[in-house]
Amino acid sequence: MSEYTLLDAYLESNLEASLQELARLVAQPSVAAQNWGLQECASLVAEMLHRRGFRVEVMPTGGAPVVLAERKGRSDKTLLFYNHYDVQPPEPLELWETPPFEPSIRDGKMYGRGVSDDKGHLVARLFALDALLATEGELPCNVKFIIEGEEETSSLHLHEFILQNKERLQADACIWEFGYVDHRDVPMQYLGLRGICYVELSVETAATDVHSGLGGSIFPNAAWRLVWALHTLKGMDERIRIPGFYDAVRPPSARDWELMAALPDVAEEYRKRYGVREFIKGLQGGAELHIEEVFSPTCTICGLTSGYQGAGAKTVLPARASAKVDFRLVPDQHPQDILQKLRAHLDREGFSDVQIRFLGGEPPARTDPDHPFINLVVETARPVYGVPMQKVPMTGGSGPIYPFVHELGLPVATAGLGYPDTRAHAPNENIRIDLYLKHARHMARVICEFAR
Ligand SMILES: [Zn+2]
Repeated sequence: MSEYTLLDAYLESNLEASLQELARLVAQPSVAAQNWGLQECASLVAEMLHRRGFRVEVMPTGGAPVVLAERKGRSDKTLLFYNHYDVQPPEPLELWETPPFEPSIRDGKMYGRGVSDDKGHLVARLFALDALLATEGELPCNVKFIIEGEEETSSLHLHEFILQNKERLQADACIWEFGYVDHRDVPMQYLGLRGICYVELSVETAATDVHSGLGGSIFPNAAWRLVWALHTLKGMDERIRIPGFYDAVRPPSARDWELMAALPDVAEEYRKRYGVREFIKGLQGGAELHIEEVFSPTCTICGLTSGYQGAGAKTVLPARASAKVDFRLVPDQHPQDILQKLRAHLDREGFSDVQIRFLGGEPPARTDPDHPFINLVVETARPVYGVPMQKVPMTGGSGPIYPFVHELGLPVATAGLGYPDTRAHAPNENIRIDLYLKHARHMARVICEFAR
């Protein structure tokens, strides 16, 4: 009998109660973008931790409060969990099969806004702690939680908060808010996140729109100004033309290539799922596609607006034009540096009239694929999932990982209950209850092995 028999038995027989606790948390709306229910949700989370013997504090920031919690354990090692209690807006409501804030269970899944991203992760981790407390009477190591309420609106105040509370956040390792199994049910270990620099570019050439018969040959056109400015940012060869843009980019290592080559080829799946006929840069698939997908920084036009876009023809010269542009950044690029280079570039190209509004940013960060803590999280998955986690050097998305890696100096591992049809951010967000249980079993093992 394994030492985990009792623990697993506890989790099996208390699953129902844990899901009820999750349902209660999901029923509390906490939509960061709409400033809806954040205080109430922070209090509820604090109460859940307090009930488990944690010393808890709900701390104000310039935005939504952060919940900090700590409970001592047997060993003096400390594991820090990063989670968030805010959720994405539930709209469009008509596409939900059951109301987003009335969690419901059907076909082995629980549905509700935030059930996967990120409330299910949080409650499954608390469930793992319950099992440890019930079977061992204490936690094997110190456990801390930092649970923020602005993750879905790009964690505006988190970096500052971490700098101000560095002492209290001291730890030896960190478990990130999310994790997934892939389409084969193999759990994935994402070793880093790209950064982002999000801007709105806008130009105004007149006080008002003008009849194009009047202004067309004598007035500057805001839409053309913007298009010409955008044209200078990236060439048809996909190369970003802002001088110095690539200076800080560290190319993928031989180990990164090796890990990417071990992943299943996604070319065919991407073609089918997204209906794209071909990839850019002549990419065919395999490791090369995986590497390009996450190790190349981007300049993406996310939206363009100017002039008349209604039915039929309207002959008008637009006074204003704007575009939203995101730059996904790779180690060691930094959003503030990119912002400065973008401004200098536009000025040099004769576009001083193009305004830049910075809408948010986060630097990228990664953990060494062969860090002992990563190997511990990867290997403890084996008895739970039947296979160890598969390491993925980096994921294309972004998150507030930088201060955890570079300010707190922690190795950061991902682990979680997401799966390909979890529909985070979309209608009918859901979790598979079998994966919920597995995540709790995995986390209990991570804590025990980490404490040794
Ligand atoms: Zn999210």
